[in-house]
Amino acid sequence: MAGQHRTQAPSRPIASITRQPESAPFQDAAAEGRFVVPRCGACGRLHWYPRALCPFCFSNDITWQDASGRGTVYSYTVMRRAKPAYAIAYVQLEEGPIMMSNIVGCDLDAVRIGMAVKLVFEPAGNGPLVPMFTPA
Ligand SMILES: [Zn+2]
Repeated sequence: MAGQHRTQAPSRPIASITRQPESAPFQDAAAEGRFVVPRCGACGRLHWYPRALCPFCFSNDITWQDASGRGTVYSYTVMRRAKPAYAIAYVQLEEGPIMMSNIVGCDLDAVRIGMAVKLVFEPAGNGPLVPMFTPA
């Protein structure tokens, strides 16, 4: 039975990032294997999802900062009725922002709130690489 319920990337990933001017730097970095998150130059806070204005102070002074890719599962749900089943989670990055993403590469029953995870880029069809998380 072991491995029968391992998490897999869903065919239509939750975490796929639509390419827009606000998110293009993320995808360009991902193509080089780098994980970056937006940072506001006015208030200094990091945020997620990429957007044109800082969600905290509405400044448009957005730059991009390398992130560790380390985080913890904040909450999650397992979509068991999907074939194959997969896990969706909110992952809080070490740097603070919370990303909605997928947990891959582990037993679905092993996913826990507070579990340490690390980012992996997974290919999704012919589109850009998608940020997902696997147990650290
Ligand atoms: Zn700000």
